[in-house]
Order: sequence, then structure tokens, then C-alpha cells
Amino acid sequence: MCPSESSSKPARTTATTKAVRASGSRLPSAKQLTEALVARQFVPFYQPLWDVQHQRWEGVETLIRWQHPVQGLLLPDAFIPVAEQSGLILELGAWILHTAFQQMADWHHQGLSNGIVAVNVSALQMHQPDFVEQVLTTLQLTGLAPSSLELELTEPLTLQDTPSLIENMHRFNEMGIRLSIDDFGTGNSSLARLQCCPVTRLKIDKSFVAHMEADSKSLNIMASIITLGHSLNLSVVAEGVETGKQQRLLAQMECNVLQGFHIGIPSTSQQTEVIWHKHNMLNKE
Ligand code: C2E
Ligand code: CA
Ligand code: CA
Repeated sequence: MCPSESSSKPARTTATTKAVRASGSRLPSAKQLTEALVARQFVPFYQPLWDVQHQRWEGVETLIRWQHPVQGLLLPDAFIPVAEQSGLILELGAWILHTAFQQMADWHHQGLSNGIVAVNVSALQMHQPDFVEQVLTTLQLTGLAPSSLELELTEPLTLQDTPSLIENMHRFNEMGIRLSIDDFGTGNSSLARLQCCPVTRLKIDKSFVAHMEADSKSLNIMASIITLGHSLNLSVVAEGVETGKQQRLLAQMECNVLQGFHIGIPSTSQQTEVIWHKHNMLNKE
């Protein structure tokens, strides 16, 4: 099967939370999303990133959820598309940036983690002429260091040639903020593009990981992307790691960072703090 054919994501049940997708239910209106933002119904979840070489948590990716009063916990597919179409993603995205930076800065101050926080950024956000200033101001307000931040951009976004976008990417890079290409391998990145695009990391799409045990082509693609990334001096993340075997294979291929249900599920800030505590205790022993 072609990896992109399987990119629709199944509903998942986590240990403590049940999150649902929009399939079968109507998408919310922009007005409902605005009301949800005012009513503070959006909740950041954090999924851990595992540094293979140093055998430690590198940080977390922020994944937004909507705690809907009637429908329960909704996954991003249920509302991000509407937020993007309506432009509300600018307001929601600014809130997510502030909340995630504040959370990581608090964990740093508490000594729970010295890791990074990765935040997904939509095309609309990245195209704003004042986006760099917005991020900078939010870093200053929350006290988070630029080096503790990673912005995740989708592959199609990094392929756009808009001057303001490229300038924003270079400015982030100069500020020491990391940029990664999310869902790498599903778009049309060219080698020339990778050479001139100031990104620091490739996040290999989870559809390749899902098939690497059964399909040698997916395995070879994974190995090739990791080699390509390293030859360009880029860190490589594999997402969607669901089994111990996948973890072992990826470690053998020298993939730098692993993310997935086998490593750690997306969790609330309170649940993530428990992970930091356990990790810190183990490292003291
Ligand atoms: P993404 O950035 O590719 O995020 C990874 C998705 O894979 C997440 O889905 C995560 O829960 C899921 N995942 C993690 N580990 C595994 C695994 O082992 N197996 C499988 N099958 N899936 C795994 P989620 O949370 O539903 O997010 C879906 C997408 O919504 C994200 O894909 C991202 O594109 C978007 N999104 C999430 N949060 C935000 C946000 O704050 N802002 C924006 N603009 N988009 C967001
Ligand atoms: Ca992402
Ligand atoms: Ca991804």
C-alpha cells in the first residue's frame, strides 16, 4: 500500500482520555469555535519526543484538543480545518503559542525539564508579516528561550516561494528557533529545496513507520530519508512509533528522535508532569 493512502488517522483511546474525530459528525461553525475560545474549552496536550542517542526526553510536541461540553474531547481534525478556513487559526494559534511557551517555561523553572516545545504552525500564521515579532514577544512574555522552541511547518508550506515566508523562516533561524518539516515524505520536497530551506529537522510521516515492518520499500524509504537528513546535517524524527520492533529498527538506523504511542501518548500537562518526575527519578538512581 502507498503510505499516503493510509494517512487517514483512526480514533484513539488513551489511558485517561477518549478523543474523537469529526467523521460522521458535522463540523462546527466558526462562531462556535470563537465561543469555545472565549469559554477556554481548548486544551493543549503534549506528546513526548525521545532522544535516541542520549536516551532521554528531548521535549514535547503540543497537540491541541477541544474539550467540547457535549461531544467530549475532540481531536484537531474536528475543528482545525474550520479554524483555518475562517481565519480563526490566527487567534487560536496565538493562544496555543502562548500556552505552550508558558507551560514549557514553567517546567524549566520548576526544574522538571530542560527540553524543547514543538508547536504546529499553520500556513496562514506563517504568512503573517508580523509573525516573527509575535513569536518573539510571546517568548519574552513567557520567559522561554528561543533555543527551546521548535516550529513545525508542513511540507507544502516549506515549498512555497513567497518572499515574506522565506524571510520569516530565515529570521527564525537567525534567532536560534528550530524549524522542522512535518509529515516529510508525503509532499514534493526536492533536494535543492532542502539545501536552501533553513530547516533543522525532518519529521518523517508516520505512514512510512506504520508500514516499515511489513513492507521493505517503506523500510528502505525510512533508511534513505534518515541518511539524506544526516548528510544535510539535519536531525531526523520518526513519528507514529507504535511497537518495540519499530523503535529498535529506527534506533539501528540512527534516527535521532522517536515519537509515537509506544514512546508516549499525547497527555495533559498534569500527566506530562508525572512523566518528567518519573524520568528525573530514574536518572537520579
Ligand atoms: P501532526 O502534527 O502530524 O501530529 C501528529 C499526530 O499523530 C497527532 O494527531 C498525534 O496524536 C498522532 N500520533 C502520535 N503518535 C501516534 C502513533 O503512534 N500512531 C498514530 N497513528 N498516530 C500518532 P492529532 O493530535 O490528532 O493531530 C492531528 C493533526 O492536527 C496534527 O498532525 C497537526 O497537523 C494538527 N494539529 C494538532 N495540533 C495543532 C495545533 O496546535 N495547531 C495546528 N495548526 N495544527 C495542529
Ligand atoms: Ca506536527
Ligand atoms: Ca506529522
